[in-house]
Amino acid sequence: MQNPRGNDPRIAGPEPALRIFMRRLRQIMAEPSDGQTRLDTIVRQVAGHMVADVCSIYLKRQDGSLELFATEGLNPAAKHITFMMRGEGLVGLCAHLAQPINEPDAQNHPSFSYHPETGEEIYHSLLAVPVSRGGSDVLGVLVVQNRTERLYSDDDVEVLETTAMVLAEHLVSGDVAGVNTAAEFSRSRSHVVRGQPIADGIALGHVVIHESRVVITELRSENPAIESERLETAVGEMKATLDELLEQNDVAAAGEHREIFEAYRMFANDRGWLRRMKEAIQQGLSAEAAVARVQNDTRARMSAHKDAYFRERLKDVDELSDRLLRVLAGRKTGQHAQALPADTVLVARTMGVADLLDYDRTRIKGLVIEDSSAQSHIAIVAKAWGIAAVGQARGVMERVDFGDPIIVDAETGDVHIRPSSEIIASYADKARFRARKRRKYRSLKSVPALTRDGQRIGLSINAGLLVDMPQIEAAGADGIGLFRTELQFMVAQALPRMERQTQFYKEVMDLAGERPVTFRTLDVGGDKALPYLRHPAEENPALGWRAIRMALDRPGLLRTQIRALLRGAGARELRVMLPLITTVDEIDAARLLIKRELELLERRGGPVPRRVHVGIMLEVPSLLYQLDAVMPRVDFVSVGSNDLLQYLFAADRNNERVSNRYDRLSIIALRALKSIVEAAAKYGTHLSLCGEMAGFPLEAMALIGVGYRNLSMSPSNIGPVKSMILSLDTEALTAELSKLMASAEGSLREPLKAYAMANKLEV
Ligand code: PEP
Ligand code: MG
Repeated sequence: MQNPRGNDPRIAGPEPALRIFMRRLRQIMAEPSDGQTRLDTIVRQVAGHMVADVCSIYLKRQDGSLELFATEGLNPAAKHITFMMRGEGLVGLCAHLAQPINEPDAQNHPSFSYHPETGEEIYHSLLAVPVSRGGSDVLGVLVVQNRTERLYSDDDVEVLETTAMVLAEHLVSGDVAGVNTAAEFSRSRSHVVRGQPIADGIALGHVVIHESRVVITELRSENPAIESERLETAVGEMKATLDELLEQNDVAAAGEHREIFEAYRMFANDRGWLRRMKEAIQQGLSAEAAVARVQNDTRARMSAHKDAYFRERLKDVDELSDRLLRVLAGRKTGQHAQALPADTVLVARTMGVADLLDYDRTRIKGLVIEDSSAQSHIAIVAKAWGIAAVGQARGVMERVDFGDPIIVDAETGDVHIRPSSEIIASYADKARFRARKRRKYRSLKSVPALTRDGQRIGLSINAGLLVDMPQIEAAGADGIGLFRTELQFMVAQALPRMERQTQFYKEVMDLAGERPVTFRTLDVGGDKALPYLRHPAEENPALGWRAIRMALDRPGLLRTQIRALLRGAGARELRVMLPLITTVDEIDAARLLIKRELELLERRGGPVPRRVHVGIMLEVPSLLYQLDAVMPRVDFVSVGSNDLLQYLFAADRNNERVSNRYDRLSIIALRALKSIVEAAAKYGTHLSLCGEMAGFPLEAMALIGVGYRNLSMSPSNIGPVKSMILSLDTEALTAELSKLMASAEGSLREPLKAYAMANKLEV
């Protein structure tokens, strides 16, 4: 059979030569020798195999510079003498771009950098490939050079990339002993890697590395039939484990996890995926290499999308491919279950929810992932499981070993690797302190949120997914003050149909029992795009076509949601909240739509909600000047202080440069918030506040001081806020705050802190 390069694999030629070379490379790695000798042997072998005049290995140092570690062809005295500064020369450029550089005329390239000690002036062509592990941080650069001007062939690039891949694995695993590279050097010292918190908490424990990738050493195979069969068996095995996972109770019960597994299963059953892998096998690749080839192609196709949804789908494909590679390598999923330390901190380059579920949940205290965002599925699960988790922890995999002590600070995003005893002691204190507080907050669960002077403060949670539901009970909340329905739409693979929505809302209300749930209708658009809905690109999305604006322009979407909410409620009371209302006309239009749907349901004879409360989010400053028109039109108002303040101060809440230019406790903010309280009181309209500020005890205190009696927040904030409320005297606070607002300027943060201190309030 002809392979695409026109070589018949049965006849001795480039293919067998490559295999012999790879075998030799593995032998070199396995031989007992010191790291330097190994690297020297590798460059010699590569130069011989590729008929290159020069082959060199540059390895990255702690400071990011690249040091010439081994060379065949350049002046041997230049070893450990020649350094390329970060980004310097073609070698630096290759490391920076993390991409091969193939230059027939290197010396005339604008990035060429001449180091006389190497004697490289006589070499014209250069091929450099990054030494990196699975596309993560670059550890070094592998280079070949020739005197003649030549463009290296695809075969040459493949040989060099494969060598670099094997080299990277051995560097990271520490097998190139005795070599003082960044990878190895960094394994023996304390480190702090700064990432982003994705699930709150502090964990002290020991590293278990989640190996999502399997190193592929056999790239080619002469027997496509066997490889195809191996692939099919592995896909079958993988599908069976996914089915098993789907049947597990705790997965099936949590609706949105189910969706993730269903997405995996959908990909696993995708005939196109299997076909593409089989085609790659027919081209002479091993089953493993075929999986990796298709994974890379998919990545290349999908990574062009800027959209968060596509990036998540790309992750699904990546996770599934890694899983398949593990099955092919005969590595059992969940293999670590028995050996897992009781204080496991999982460290991974990437990790899917399915991978996390392979582990014994009771043993996992923390999670560190090189590549994961707060919006990812894994973040949702980590939060629900109460695991301290940090994402975007770049370079962490290079620095850890199995069993290393590690601290995950998911308050700040810091990950301490092999911390000093002082750091451990201080974190142990912090963790104990947190545990004590948690115990205290748990003991307050059933205590009513009453101030010292008898004011009852309603405390509800903000939620959006089924996994959040047990938090109402756990936090001892009055209900759900803000249910962000768009989250369910965002984790779905396609627009949820009415039946699905109905079932979902019913389930939410069933789980909430007697406690009220305020459903906010779809707040999409802006930064919350639904990939399956066409949305025009906007110059200024925060001020654009979003939330109620989109809903009223496309009433089909809103109508379906209202219908589903009404049906999901059955005969219960229903609370519907409209987001981003700017004018009263919008309230009228949405109310009319709801009324019509209600009448339709009545005519059809279905059970009708006992009462439908229609309220609005107050989050656009224009409403502050229409309060007399707004209040009588609605059953309740909930202040969305996140948006209200960003629009009031014209400072994007997601832009770190400007989001802290105003203080939530400035007199201006408090004055605006107070005017809403006064208008609500005048019309007897139920009022609450559900922006983030409600969850900070000091801010919550100020809100109570200006008259708010209902607050809705993240479940974990209920304890601290309630604790503050129990020792608060509202009458004294109101008097103090009125005085401050009348006389002071700017922010009231400091005076309010002083007031809290003086009155022994925990804020
Ligand atoms: C708000 O704007 O304060 C709010 C609660 O809504 P979201 O954060 O979902 O925009
Ligand atoms: Mg908002």
